Amino acid sequence: MAAQEIKSVVIAGGGTAGWMAAAAIAKVMGPRLSVTLVESDEIGIIGVGEATIPSIALYNEMLRIDENEFLRQTQGTFKLGIEFADWHQPGHSYMHAFGGIGKDLAYIPFHHYWLQEVLQGRGDSLWNYSLNYLAARQGRFARLPRIEDTPLPGLTYAFHFDASLYAAYLRRLSEQMGVRRVEGLIAEVIQHPESGDVRALHLKDGREISGEFFLDCTGFRGLLIEQSLKAGYDDWSRWLPCDRALAIPTQRNDPLIPYTRSTALEAGWQWRIPLQHRTGNGHVYSSAYMEDDRAADLLMANLDSQPLGDPRAIRFVTGRRRQLWSHNVVCLGLASGFLEPLESTAIHLIQANIQRLILLFPHHGDCDHRRAQFNQTAAAEYEFVRDFIILHYYLNNRVGERFWDDCRHMSVPDSLTHKIELFRETGGIFTSQHDIFHLTSWLQVLWGQGVSPRSAHPFVQAVAPHDRTEYLKNIRDLMAQAASALPRQEEFIARHCRAPALAGAAA
Ligand SMILES: Cc1cc2nc3c(=O)[nH]c(=O)nc-3n(C[C@H](O)[C@H](O)[C@H](O)COP(=O)(O)OP(=O)(O)OC[C@H]3O[C@@H](n4cnc5c(N)ncnc54)[C@H](O)[C@@H]3O)c2cc1C
Repeated sequence: MAAQEIKSVVIAGGGTAGWMAAAAIAKVMGPRLSVTLVESDEIGIIGVGEATIPSIALYNEMLRIDENEFLRQTQGTFKLGIEFADWHQPGHSYMHAFGGIGKDLAYIPFHHYWLQEVLQGRGDSLWNYSLNYLAARQGRFARLPRIEDTPLPGLTYAFHFDASLYAAYLRRLSEQMGVRRVEGLIAEVIQHPESGDVRALHLKDGREISGEFFLDCTGFRGLLIEQSLKAGYDDWSRWLPCDRALAIPTQRNDPLIPYTRSTALEAGWQWRIPLQHRTGNGHVYSSAYMEDDRAADLLMANLDSQPLGDPRAIRFVTGRRRQLWSHNVVCLGLASGFLEPLESTAIHLIQANIQRLILLFPHHGDCDHRRAQFNQTAAAEYEFVRDFIILHYYLNNRVGERFWDDCRHMSVPDSLTHKIELFRETGGIFTSQHDIFHLTSWLQVLWGQGVSPRSAHPFVQAVAPHDRTEYLKNIRDLMAQAASALPRQEEFIARHCRAPALAGAAA
C-alpha cells in the first residue's frame, strides 16, 4: 500500500460487526478520521448472535455506554455462564461459569487443593466454589464486584441481547458521533490498477464511495477481502463438522435464567438464550450426519415455549480467513471467518480485532509491520478459540452415536492434545496471552467433559489436610451465603433495566 495519510475509513456492511467498528472508531479516532458506513436494506443482516462473554464490558466502557440503557434498548438479560447438557453423555450436565473458582493460595491455583481432596475421596463438586454457578442455578443476579468483607471476587457477567436491536442501537450512537450512513447495494469493488489496494465502492445506483482505508463487514460473502482481494480461507470443518444452523425465536420463558443453555443432540447441539421479550433458540448440526427435515423436527420437539415464527436456515463453513488484513482492507465479523456459537465468541472476536486495529491503525499509511502484527495476533486468537470449541466435541462420551463417535476418534490439533494430556497427568493448565479463555474456563470444560487428573500439584500437601479441608469449607460457605443473598434476576431487571415493551407487565 502506498504511504499516504489516512483521513477516511469506509465500512462496507452494517451488521453487528460494521456498527461495532463504526461506533468504536468514531469514539476513539473521531476528529482525525471521517467514517462512512455502507449497508444494503435489500440484503439485511444475519440478525443472530445473542450471547456474549464478559469482555464485552470493555467495549461498552470504551464507548461510555450506560449499561442499564443498553439492556433496555436491546431487550438484554444477564449471562453468568453456559450450561452444557448431555455433552459428556446423555443425562449429564455441567456449566462453564464465568469468573473465578475458589481462591488461589501460595502460588498454586485453587483447583489443586480441591483436586487433592477429590483424589483422597473427600471431594465435592467443583462448582460449589463458583459464585457464578451458584447464583446461576438459583436464577439470581446483582452487580457484585466482590463478596463483602472477604478477599473473594463477586460475579463476572456478560449479556444476552437481541442482535438486530444491538446493531440498531450502535447505529444510533455512531450517527450521533458523526458516522455517515449510506444505504445502497455495493455492485463493484474498485481497486487501484497497480497496487491492488481498494480505492472505492461502486453502488448499484451509480454512486461511488471512495476512501483510503476499508473495513469489510459484509458477512459471509466477504465482498472486499475474498471476492476482490482473494485473502484465502482455512477450512476447519475436519475438526468442527457442523455446517448448518436453524434459528427460531419462541415466547419468553419464566423464570428468566441468567445463563445460556447448550444441549447436545444426535449430530450437533441446540442453544437456548433467554431475553426479556423472547427466547432465542437454534440447532447447529452437521449435514453429513443429519437431514435438514430431521434437524428441524428435533429443534421443534425440544422447544420449551411457543414458537414465534418458522425456523430460519443458515449455512456456514467453519474456518478463518487466511489474512484478516490484506492491502488496505481489514475484515471483521463473519467476513473474517466463522466458529460456531458454542462459546459465544464471535462478538468478542469482532471487538478484539477492532481494538487491535485501533492500536495499529496506519494513520500515515505505513502498513507492513502493522499488518503483519495484526494478522499474526488475530490468527493466534482464532486458533485458541477453535481448540477450545473442539475440546467439547472431542471429549464426549456419547458412545454408539455415529456423529459423536467420529468426533471422539478424530485427530485433534497438537496444541490441544498437549493441553489435555498435561491436565490428565498433572492437573496443570497453562494458557497463552492470546487465549481469551483462562484457566478456570479450561478447567470446567476439561473436568465437565470427564478428564480426571492423576495427581494434584505436590505443593498442596504442604498444607495440613485438616487446614486444607477447613480452607475449602470456608470458601464454600461464604459463596453459598453470598449467592442466596442475591436478588432474583427478574427483580434486578425490573428495578434497573426493564425494556420499555415490558413496562407494567409482571416480571
Ligand atoms: C447461527 C448463528 C448463531 C450465532 N450466535 C452468536 C452468539 O450467540 N454470540 C456471538 O457472539 N455471535 C454469534 N453469531 C455470530 C454473529 O451473528 C456475527 O458474528 C455477527 O452478527 C456479525 O455479523 P456481521 O456483521 O459480520 O454480518 P451480517 O450481519 O451478515 O452483516 C452484513 C452486512 O453487510 C451488508 N452487505 C453485504 N453485502 C452487501 C452489498 N453488496 N452491498 C451493501 N451491503 C452489503 C449487509 O446489508 C449487512 O449490513 C452467530 C452466528 C450464527 C450464524
